[in-house]
Amino acid sequence: MKAWENNLRQVVPYVPGEQPKRSKMIKLNTNENPYPPAPGVRDALDAVEEDLLRRYPDPTSEVLNSTIANYYGVKTSQVFTGVGSDDVLSVAFLTFFNSDKPVFFPDITYSFYKVWADVYRIPYATMPLDKNFKIVKEDYYPENGGVIFPNPNAPTAIYMGLDEVRDIIEHNRDVIVIVDEAYIDFGGESALSLIDEYDNLVVVQTFSKSRSLAGLRIGYAISGNERLIKAMNDVKYSINSYTMNQTAIYAGAESIKDKEYFTKQVNKIIATREKTVKELEELGFTCLPSKANFVFAKHDKAAAKDIFEQLKARDIFVRYFNQPRIDNFLRITIGTDKEMEELVSALKDIIG
Ligand SMILES: *Cc1c(COP(=O)(O)O)cnc(C)c1O
Repeated sequence: MKAWENNLRQVVPYVPGEQPKRSKMIKLNTNENPYPPAPGVRDALDAVEEDLLRRYPDPTSEVLNSTIANYYGVKTSQVFTGVGSDDVLSVAFLTFFNSDKPVFFPDITYSFYKVWADVYRIPYATMPLDKNFKIVKEDYYPENGGVIFPNPNAPTAIYMGLDEVRDIIEHNRDVIVIVDEAYIDFGGESALSLIDEYDNLVVVQTFSKSRSLAGLRIGYAISGNERLIKAMNDVKYSINSYTMNQTAIYAGAESIKDKEYFTKQVNKIIATREKTVKELEELGFTCLPSKANFVFAKHDKAAAKDIFEQLKARDIFVRYFNQPRIDNFLRITIGTDKEMEELVSALKDIIG
C-alpha cells in the first residue's frame, strides 16, 4: 500500500436514481416533472447570446435571486441560489453545522444528508420515524448541533403540519433548523410563512420538481435572517463564485414569473396522484398519505423487489430502496395520466 493512500478521502457517495437511455420508457424513478417547463423558459434560452456565454456570469445571480425574492415577497438579500438544492443544502451543511454536537435528521429521509455529514465530518444522529412513518417532533428536543428534515419527507411523501414544524423550531432556538421543501408545491403549506418569526430558520426549495427544471439545476434557500444568507454566500465564494450559469440565471427567472402555468401543471399532477392512489389501492397496494409528486406504496402480497424488476423488464422505471423498514415499498413518481394508466395496467398483469 502506498503512503498516500492514507490521505485519500474515503466516502460512500450518494446514489441517484438511474437515468436509463431508452427511447421508449416510462420513467417514474427520480421524481422529475412529466410536463415541460413554462413556455418563457424556451424563449429565455433562445435569447442567451454568444456574448453572454463568452463572459463569466454575475456571481451574485442578481436577475434570478431578485425574481425569486419578488415572487415570495422577501428581499434579495434573503435569497441564496445554488446548482440545484443539492448544492444549496451542501453549502448549508458547511455553513451552519459546525458544532461538536450531532446534527439531527430522520432515519428514513433524503439519503444525501448522511453523505454530506460524512464528507464534511459533521457528527450526526438519526431519529427513527414512528410506525406510521411519521417524524416524531419530541425526538428533536434534546441538545444538538442543528436540525434538518424534508417536508414532505422523502421517500415517504408524508407532510408534517406547520404547527409541528413550528414546535421543532421553538425547541431549537440555539441552532439552525433547515426545512428542505423539495416537494412543498404539491399540496403542503410552506414554512416560508414562519421566516419572519424565527431568525434560525432556513427554508430550501428547488426548481427541479414543481418547475420541471431538474436539468437546469436551480435550488434556493430563503431565510428571514440576512446574516445566514450572507454566511452561505461567504462559504460559496470560498469555493466557487460562478455556480449559477447564464442560462440558469435567465431561464430560471422566466420560469418563476409564470405563476399561471405553474399552478395549472402542479394541480394536474395532484389530480393524477389522487387518481393513481385510488387505482393502486384497488390493486391491493397501501400508499402512505402523499403531498408530493410521488407515492410510496407497498403491496400486501407481492414483494416490492419483484414488482420493481418486472416493471423494469417492461421499461417502466420506479425506485426501490434495499433498506431496513422500507424494502417492501416502491417509490413511484407521478407522471402523466397516460403514463400512470400504463403503469397500473402493467401492475395488474404482474400481480395477476
Ligand atoms: C430532489 C430532492 C432534492 C434535490 O433536488 P435538486 O434537483 O438538487 O434541486 C433535495 N431534497 C430532497 C428531499 C429531494 O427529494
